[in-house]
Amino acid sequence: MMMQRKTCRHIHELGEFGLISLISGKVRPTPAVPVSIGDDAAAFQWQNGYIGLTTSDMLVEGVHFDLSFCDPFRLGRKSLAVNLSDIAAMGGIPRWFLLSLAIPAKLSVGFVELFTSGMLGLADEYGTALVGGDTCASKEGLVISITLYGEQQEGRIIRRRGALPGEAVFVTGTLGDAALGLEFLRKGSTDGRCISRHLDPSPRVREGLALAEAGLATAMIDISDGLLSDLGHITEMSGSGAIVHQDRIPLSREFAAHVESLRNSDYSLALGGGEDYELLFTAPARNREAIGSLFAELGTPVTEIGEITSTPGVHVLSAEGKPIPAPKAGFDHFSTTARDTRSSLPVHWEE
Ligand code: ADP
Ligand code: MG
Repeated sequence: MMMQRKTCRHIHELGEFGLISLISGKVRPTPAVPVSIGDDAAAFQWQNGYIGLTTSDMLVEGVHFDLSFCDPFRLGRKSLAVNLSDIAAMGGIPRWFLLSLAIPAKLSVGFVELFTSGMLGLADEYGTALVGGDTCASKEGLVISITLYGEQQEGRIIRRRGALPGEAVFVTGTLGDAALGLEFLRKGSTDGRCISRHLDPSPRVREGLALAEAGLATAMIDISDGLLSDLGHITEMSGSGAIVHQDRIPLSREFAAHVESLRNSDYSLALGGGEDYELLFTAPARNREAIGSLFAELGTPVTEIGEITSTPGVHVLSAEGKPIPAPKAGFDHFSTTARDTRSSLPVHWEE
């Protein structure tokens, strides 16, 4: 009998999402879990018409943060903020969380005190309580893992799938600031609005909840990996495609001032840079005005940046309507070009 030769594939050949598919492909559907692996949070049947939501995010020293420019107070806030952002992306109400830490023994007690006060301060702002976790020693660096639970009435949650051709694509706030902030930190700057967006992101919990309650959005995701990558998740899950108008992408004054003439390549951090934690959502064009009024009441900027198409793929168009070669997809932990922290997306502009 001929022995079949096993090829030894490495994880970087699969990529982050291929790796998740490998695991999820072995998982059988579970009754009472309407949303499983593949969305911002999993949803399970709860009680009295409520759906439970759960999400988990890990921050690893040297991969997600660099202690040479990341203070413990803001690191504590960010660790929880990235989880709050996933509950926001489902239109959920955050409730309780578990904190697991692998800590190098040399870390100071003062570090942990500041880290915890940052985290618990943010938890109070969002009415969320720390209810447990796990702690162990780490030989290599600090690892922070949070699992956050939330809830929402059945029928209100907003999934990644559900976007229909012809619908409009909206984004909250401005894009590219966190990625530019990281570039500034690397060059030795220590403060400014972009840096603070990188070190202390604001999860859009109120905005996600307001959209869910008003029933205005058909699909939603938070932008953690970059606009094009995260819009790609919506279109893949919805079986559609999308067009993004580059000149409509909302940029902060700081971002625009930094990239003087806004040539095509200057948009790369706004299109592909991660960690802005803004919400990206789709809605029928007839909801445009209602969305405008809702966000005016919230005091949060919202911008229509494109539309859902039946042609697959996410395409970027210039102000003249010409296709623009987009930077390669957002951050992938196992890409061979991934650098040492998450928003440091190495931008490959194909010109
Ligand atoms: P997000 O950027 O919203 O945090 P991710 O890209 O990290 O989402 O994950 C995508 C989906 O894959 C989520 O539903 C997440 O729960 C799931 N996932 C990620 N890693 C694993 C894993 N090791 N095992 C099972 N599911 C996973
Ligand atoms: Mg998410």
